[in-house]
Amino acid sequence: MTDLLAASEIEALQVANQHASSYRRAENTRSIPPSQTASEAHEIFGGALNDEGQDADQVLRDIIAKSDGGILDFTSPRFFGFVIGGSHPVGVAADHLVSAWGNPSSYAELTPGVTAMENQMTTWIADLLGLPDNCGAGIVTGATMANTIAIMAARNALLAREGWNVEDQGLFGAPEINVVLGDEAHSAVFAGLRYAGFGAKRVTRVPADAEGRMIATELDRALNALTGPTLVIVQAGNVNSGASDPFAEIIPIARKHKAWVHVDGAFGLWLAASPDTRAIVAGVAEADSWAVDLHKWLQAPYDSAIAFVRDKARLATAMSAKGAYLPDEGTFPDPSDFVTELSRRARGVPSYAILRTLGKSGVSQMIARHCVLAKHLARLISAEPGLTVLNQVVANQVVITCGEGEKGDAQTQATLAKVQENGKVYPTHGNWRDRTIIRCSICNYATRQNDVDLLAEEIITAWRDVNAA
Ligand SMILES: *Cc1c(COP(=O)(O)O)cnc(C)c1O
Repeated sequence: MTDLLAASEIEALQVANQHASSYRRAENTRSIPPSQTASEAHEIFGGALNDEGQDADQVLRDIIAKSDGGILDFTSPRFFGFVIGGSHPVGVAADHLVSAWGNPSSYAELTPGVTAMENQMTTWIADLLGLPDNCGAGIVTGATMANTIAIMAARNALLAREGWNVEDQGLFGAPEINVVLGDEAHSAVFAGLRYAGFGAKRVTRVPADAEGRMIATELDRALNALTGPTLVIVQAGNVNSGASDPFAEIIPIARKHKAWVHVDGAFGLWLAASPDTRAIVAGVAEADSWAVDLHKWLQAPYDSAIAFVRDKARLATAMSAKGAYLPDEGTFPDPSDFVTELSRRARGVPSYAILRTLGKSGVSQMIARHCVLAKHLARLISAEPGLTVLNQVVANQVVITCGEGEKGDAQTQATLAKVQENGKVYPTHGNWRDRTIIRCSICNYATRQNDVDLLAEEIITAWRDVNAA
């Protein structure tokens, strides 16, 4: 009997596996930034395509050798940039299975294993986050898409109430929908508004307070000035300060005006998963829809997020290729009814594996621990003359600035450049309250206090050098 896999194919699978382990095990011994520039990498991976095929294991070995120096170590426990999870090893392993099985997650009866895991995963997450039972859940690539499809479901619902079927008639001639959002809404929300045909600039912005939280009385004022169907978009977890909008005040105001409330909760919604942090997002479950990333705080490998919509049929009608559609109770959801793709990888399976590996308590303790570590970092930084923590550290984000004014901004930039060049830890840049900042996000499952101590030490040492220069 001939083996369906050539020896070199079996070898390729093993080479990938071995490299994955050794890459991740060596995380704290190598420099975090890539040594290749984009142009060097394009050179290295460039050239004409070979005419003749090559052995699979040789191709893999060559890719591994050439990418040495071309990978930014996003998964390092000492990577503090953006807001990003650590691509948990069990998620990586499960992702490998997803590719090996090659099953799309489209129809429950067609590919029962992967769809069952995905459906269970979204139910578990709704439960962990305290969201209503029986939401529609679309598993998408990231919070950008999750926001987008939730906005599309909102559009469908708001226009249906006006007697307009947007799926059949489109937006031309439709009643106008007001879009109201906070001054600190993430750029992904504006992208979602563009994709959904609302326009990024056709919005009413509500002022935010110093931490970036929407001001409830200002929302009331804005809504009083508007008539007609309205979509209000709020935020759990500001990407700089980590602050969340005051949902318990805001959502009842929006309700009074019959608005649809959507929450961009890319990372901040996870605060609901721990009793220690839940109060920060109290009331968030009263909204109509939520976007939440799995590749941030849940540690799923890229690319993974969920759009939850309270009214399941609204999401299905907006998304399903089957057209006007009400899911039958008692049948298993077809995941493709809740997203824009008919065929897609079963990207929810890694999160299923991660949830089982961490358990409920593992998830909740991780969220709480990251927030404790953020406060620890803020204390270390604040103790250094000339360094300021600009935000109230309520979650996992710490906003740091050096010196004062324009000179300080230049010093902040120089300090960050030194830290990144040193390569032992890796925060990233940003702007907050008219200042250039060093933004530190504590979001990796493997990050421990010694990693955070090193982060503080690296920033302080770099700052002293910059300030002495
Ligand atoms: C990260 C983030 C997004 C975008 O999410 P992607 O997963 O990159 O698409 C949107 N909103 C907020 C608040 C975020 O933190």
